[in-house]
Amino acid sequence: MSIRQLPDTLINQIAAGEVVERPASVVKELVENALDAGATRIDIDLEEGGVRLIRIRDDGGGIAADDLPLAVARHATSKIASLDDLEAVATLGFRGEALPSIASVSRFALTSRHNGEEHGATLPVDGGRLGNVVPKAHPPGTTVEVRDLFYNVPARRKFLRAERTELGHIEEWLRTLALARPDVELRLSHNGKASRRYRGDGGIATAARIAETLGEEFSKQTLRIDHAAAGLSLHGWIALPTYSRASADQQYLYVNGRSIRDRSIAHAVKQAYADVLFHGRQPAYVLFLELDPRRVDVNVHPAKHEVRFRDARLIHDFVYRTLHDALAQTRAGLVAGVST
Ligand code: ADP
Ligand code: MG
Repeated sequence: MSIRQLPDTLINQIAAGEVVERPASVVKELVENALDAGATRIDIDLEEGGVRLIRIRDDGGGIAADDLPLAVARHATSKIASLDDLEAVATLGFRGEALPSIASVSRFALTSRHNGEEHGATLPVDGGRLGNVVPKAHPPGTTVEVRDLFYNVPARRKFLRAERTELGHIEEWLRTLALARPDVELRLSHNGKASRRYRGDGGIATAARIAETLGEEFSKQTLRIDHAAAGLSLHGWIALPTYSRASADQQYLYVNGRSIRDRSIAHAVKQAYADVLFHGRQPAYVLFLELDPRRVDVNVHPAKHEVRFRDARLIHDFVYRTLHDALAQTRAGLVAGVST
């Protein structure tokens, strides 16, 4: 067979294989876009576990009508413009591939009204084929509608699970986000019924959000962590050994606000608990690590579940030392509990 350049739609569908695994990945990408646009309230409406419909509306900065086709074009982003920007990226998105990928495997519509414009506009995209931009009434902000996910990719559709399972993935991801962004109001509805609501209460919310998200028990039996050294800062909550878990279901780690998985940091936490937890029990924690974005590469994986640290060893030891010392102090009889 001779070598040929693939058509754009097919390129997007191939990329979608990496970015869009299931409805929860679509929700993640779209909500992260809303956050990058400065939204303070995000409404997520689902039907049939998100397979039939995912509709996400935000009150962020919006997109100008003329820019709508660009927003669904591949490698088009407003978030970085140079390698320098990439190396110090502070937004959740930067690859410019979520919207084109999602739009290539669904019946999609992007509707928005840019800050300061009087009218909104909408752009439908069907399986990657762009329609026309037409005026549409919309409050300032953006609504993205994704219908019939994978309708044109039967091989992927086959891998979608039962409605309950897909909804469960979305709710778990939302919990992860809610812990990191108590300043944003998040509402989830499923098949027309309100199913979750996280109120955005500004500054005081973090402790309340912890309790509402992980339960009163967790918040009563935790230690506040707040430590900085060598340009690294670690804050959050870790559970007392008395609140250990049978599984790793309450382990939340964020690096510069982004939820990630990291084996080295997970190991550091485990080691810090080594003397105080029974064998086979898992610690519970919500930890936020902040560092200069230049010290961490977030462009490791299309879905951005992992990052790469420039000084991984230093970070491992910093996390271990911070938690180990905090746990040692409780054994000396310090009082615990969530507080802001
Ligand atoms: P990325 O987030 O990596 O830039 P996306 O494909 O997710 O790539 O989005 C492309 C562009 O569309 C963004 O850079 C942004 O300018 C715009 N955009 C997407 N969603 C929104 C939104 N909810 N509000 C405002 N702008 C948005
Ligand atoms: Mg994005």
